[in-house]
Amino acid sequence: MTTHLPPPEHPAIDALDEGLLGAVAAGAARLTPRQALDLIERAPLPLLGRYADARSRSLHGDSIRTYIIDRNINYTNVCTARCTFCAFRRDASDHDSYTLAPAQIEEKIGELIAIGGTQVLMQGGMNPDLPLSWYTTLLSGLKAKFPTIHLHAFSPPEVIEFVNFFDPPGDTLAAKIAYVLRELQAAGLDSLPGGGGEIFATPVRRKIGLGKCDANAWLTTMNVAQSLGMFTSATMMFGHIEGYADRVHHMLLVRQWQDKALREPTPLGPRPPAHYKSFIAWPFQRENTPLGRVKDWGADPAELSQEFPGDVVARAFDWGHTDEVDHKSLAGAAEFGRRVRMSGAVDYLRTQAVSRLFLDNLYSIGSSWVTMGPHVGQLGLMYGANDMGSVMMEENVVSSAGTTYCLDEPVLCRLIRETGFTPAQRDNAYDVLRVHTGPDSPDLRVTDWSAHRARKLHREAVSRPVPLSVSTTR
Ligand code: SF4
Repeated sequence: MTTHLPPPEHPAIDALDEGLLGAVAAGAARLTPRQALDLIERAPLPLLGRYADARSRSLHGDSIRTYIIDRNINYTNVCTARCTFCAFRRDASDHDSYTLAPAQIEEKIGELIAIGGTQVLMQGGMNPDLPLSWYTTLLSGLKAKFPTIHLHAFSPPEVIEFVNFFDPPGDTLAAKIAYVLRELQAAGLDSLPGGGGEIFATPVRRKIGLGKCDANAWLTTMNVAQSLGMFTSATMMFGHIEGYADRVHHMLLVRQWQDKALREPTPLGPRPPAHYKSFIAWPFQRENTPLGRVKDWGADPAELSQEFPGDVVARAFDWGHTDEVDHKSLAGAAEFGRRVRMSGAVDYLRTQAVSRLFLDNLYSIGSSWVTMGPHVGQLGLMYGANDMGSVMMEENVVSSAGTTYCLDEPVLCRLIRETGFTPAQRDNAYDVLRVHTGPDSPDLRVTDWSAHRARKLHREAVSRPVPLSVSTTR
């Protein structure tokens, strides 16, 4: 069993103390949640960048930064949940609902293999019409036809809905999850993506993730998957109704469960060496979503003299010590859920840099160029990220909410090389497959860049206006 001893915390030291930040960058000190919140709220961006980059370099060196070639396949948009930030979901009766046939999925994987892809990221809505056998037949068919492709599929909210839909045997939620995951793993599932994390704080999650599993179910699913030997990732979607402390609380839970995964045996048996491999955070994309149609904080200038309602509720939530927050009777929180505080490039880079410093037990931090655009994504490599994620052939979820960025391999390599690093293709386990040093590198072979601009390559469903239906109670 791996021995994992987190570095010591120094709660009495100011978060902006460069001695503390230097020790964190070297892996010799751990930030407290309050220090992380302090950094998000008041650290100058260049200071955060300097130490997040130092931490990234101490873990990943000065030479290469990575990417993967995979394909995002959204197998169905039919979903029982009604997340207010989602422009992707449909009811089964909607004219543009869809569920892909296995032959369509196979065709997409064939296209992926043709460009050197190694992984499929398969996620979808929570579709009650699909039995467990639909998934196991699909997975075993894909493994038989494409034995070398890594199947990275089904985020925790999907797995929890499998438990609800299929009523598997087991006395506890963990046992039921284990039953479902064992069936999927036997059919060919290799690992679980970290979708559906959003913000773990209960008051926020109850407002935006209508019908989606709670934080404990999300984290338990990942713990069980890891106990079965599957590496997983963690995500966070921020820049909406949450307070800054909610972001830190979210990362704190990931850090605590990662400590647990690295340290403790599992009740399901001896623990194989699986845990969270990566963390990626991205800002909420508002177009075509119910949540995106609520007012920006500060649209009424008088609001700006007050505290953002999300921060008021986050303080009452008190890092999870008070799960039930009655925001209606909380002074300054009446508009909680009715105002969004959207993230721009600076807030994005600030949050990503703090994630690198705070999550000292996470190996990889991904830069989210898909939502932030190629050039902010590129800057992310200087603010603690070591990985540029995937070449994007297809994406339907955030692109339904207005994001239109898709990049091919030469552009992704060029973005990495321009930051002073050598691009390297990796696999799901973050093992390097190819380091692009020679003239055969994908970007160095290109002489005419006009055909390689960032663009939207493919979407499965057309967008449509979504009625405003933000819930205020739940
Ligand atoms: S985010 Fe996922 S779970 Fe939520 S409504 Fe959209 S498809 Fe369904």
